This record gives sequence, structure tokens and C-alpha cells, in this order.
Amino acid sequence: MAGKKYYKLIVSKCKECGKEFQISPEEQRYFDSKGFVLPKRCSIIFVCYSERRC
Ligand SMILES: [Zn+2]
Repeated sequence: MAGKKYYKLIVSKCKECGKEFQISPEEQRYFDSKGFVLPKRCSIIFVCYSERRC
């Protein structure tokens, strides 16, 4: 387990539609591993996209 970071579920607010969305630990690990910042829009993790709100 060395080098493993512990992630907790994050609830964030979409800057496009204002809707709250969750960023799962798996997604956070993915963004971290790519060196990306966490998404500010739910569309990035398909919530908004699937509801066609953004
Ligand atoms: Zn949105």
C-alpha cells in the first residue's frame, strides 16, 4: 500500500449549471495521476452531459 493516497468522496458545485455533483475517489485518483485539477463542471464526469443541462 506504499505511496497510496487516501481519497474521500468530494461534493462539488458545477460552475456551469450550479448543480452539485460528486467526484469519486477513483476519479480523484485518475485526475491526480494525470496531473489534472479536479473538474469544476459536472459535464466532465457525465452527470450534466447525460441530463443535457450543460
Ligand atoms: Zn453542470
